[in-house]
Amino acid sequence: MSEAENRPSNFIRHIIDEDLKSGKHDTVHTRFPPEPNGYLHIGHAKSICLNFGIAQDYQGACNLRFDDTNPEKEDIDYVNSIQQDVKWLGFDWDGEVCYSSNYFDLLYAYAEELIQKGLAFVCFLNADEAREYRGTLSQPGKNSPYRDTPVEENLALFRKMRAGEFKEGECSLRAKIDMSSSFMCMRDPVIYRVRFAHHHQTGDKWCIYPMYDFTHCISDAIEGITHSLCTLEFQDNRRLYDWVLENITIETVPHQYEFSRLNLEYTVMSKRKLNTLVTDGHVNGWNDPRMLTIAGLRRRGYTAASIVEFCKRIGVTKMENMVEMPMLEACIRDDLNANAPRAMAVLDPIKVVIENYPEDKVEQLSAPNHPSEDMGERIVPFSRELYIEAEDFREEANKKFKRLVIGKEVRLRNAYMIKAERCDKDENGNVTTVYCTYDDTTLGKNPEDGRKPKGVIHWVSAEHAKPAEIRLYDRLFTVANPAAEEDFTAVLNPESLVVKQGVVEPSLVKAEAEHAYQFERQGYFCADSVDSSPEALVFNRTVGLRDTWAKIGG
Ligand code: ATP
Ligand code: MG
Repeated sequence: MSEAENRPSNFIRHIIDEDLKSGKHDTVHTRFPPEPNGYLHIGHAKSICLNFGIAQDYQGACNLRFDDTNPEKEDIDYVNSIQQDVKWLGFDWDGEVCYSSNYFDLLYAYAEELIQKGLAFVCFLNADEAREYRGTLSQPGKNSPYRDTPVEENLALFRKMRAGEFKEGECSLRAKIDMSSSFMCMRDPVIYRVRFAHHHQTGDKWCIYPMYDFTHCISDAIEGITHSLCTLEFQDNRRLYDWVLENITIETVPHQYEFSRLNLEYTVMSKRKLNTLVTDGHVNGWNDPRMLTIAGLRRRGYTAASIVEFCKRIGVTKMENMVEMPMLEACIRDDLNANAPRAMAVLDPIKVVIENYPEDKVEQLSAPNHPSEDMGERIVPFSRELYIEAEDFREEANKKFKRLVIGKEVRLRNAYMIKAERCDKDENGNVTTVYCTYDDTTLGKNPEDGRKPKGVIHWVSAEHAKPAEIRLYDRLFTVANPAAEEDFTAVLNPESLVVKQGVVEPSLVKAEAEHAYQFERQGYFCADSVDSSPEALVFNRTVGLRDTWAKIGG
């Protein structure tokens, strides 16, 4: 497939194709406009892939613009993490990072222009009164008693607002549009409010801050954005977007297009809810591997390529829907199946003693790092005492159990065939040690008499094993749509994290954080970037080998 044929196709790209063909635009300029009030999540990845992807494919440009008009909720940590996450996903913005706050002076001047034109007024209704005057979807609103204040007086009042002479909530600047509009956002919306808040970019320069609807369209126009892409909840606001740009003196006129948000089952996506999970300690930070933040996914072992592929597979439409988790998991599984080196780890160890293997002997066996790709080989030590998975042994079993059973033979992956002879148990009846014999003619081949092993199991040499904490993650919520619950924290899955004390083969001491391995027969795992060290290994399960959701999802 050529590069062009491999591109995503969607209604927004069709619009751009038309605009370029008709000469309406001769280039494409998009922007990704996060508010720095939290970490980016997988939903943002959809918007990032759309905006930056378009810029890439059309040789256009995409700005990273912080939509930073709510200083109380914002933080420089978020500004930094967002830049890091965009870069990690493989994108880069055009020129310098932009901030809406860069335009506060201009925005202020545009607000005065609206006042001068009789299109904005300072309103002293309090919150309750304003709500009452606004009306409802079925009832038109009423004009504010301050609506007809003369222009000069409004100007003076707005300047007083700026000078800090009014308290928070005492007054606001409102656009004068239409209190009977069927679009609520057109009923004389607030465009400036008083906030005595320190801003991470502008410090204490301002005590009035512009609202999103006023700021966004003007920022787009200032930056020469051609296609302003946002999610469907802003559909009605497009009227206000256009109204503002039509009523101020500004040159470029961008157009807003809406697409549906990404919703994923068994998770929450809003930063406000994610923030609650973090601040109330339901998870261990924004980069907890159970969080579907970019930082969480990354720490869990997701690759940037798998997230970009996911965004491509879900596509961009105007249809609201809920994507199932296996969609996302298939993307990382496909990537890691092809690209993750193999290794052996035992999550629930029991001992195997090979009684006919010499006591002090150690063999350095070599094992391929990948079954099909050329990733070289590694050394795996083999000795008389090994660990295997508790669930891979049974004293007795029917034919379906293709693992170790007393009197039967299995192959140890990359090593010999062994036969179980007897076992020891603890006082609770749990098997602790299995005594076996091995056939020294079976290294890498089946015996000549035609005997076949029942199956293949993984193992780690006991003397060489490295202890490791292994973190198994499950869905964070017990219901598909936690956001629909009255209290989404009431439906958290208490078993979203299960910790195992396992053992891993010695080569894994050098496992790099975030780079996943396939632990044979177990799934994909990566060393934890926060807690793992060569002395105390910690692995995160990125994803299992197969889709287990169908079973447990019900
Ligand atoms: P949240 O509710 O998570 O805080 P937001 O829309 O308030 O989301 P912003 O920081 O304003 O977050 O979002 C930046 C950009 O990312 C916006 O253009 C927004 O439309 C887009 N975006 C946010 N969430 C999603 C999502 N779930 N799917 C697709 N795009 C999204
Ligand atoms: Mg927002």
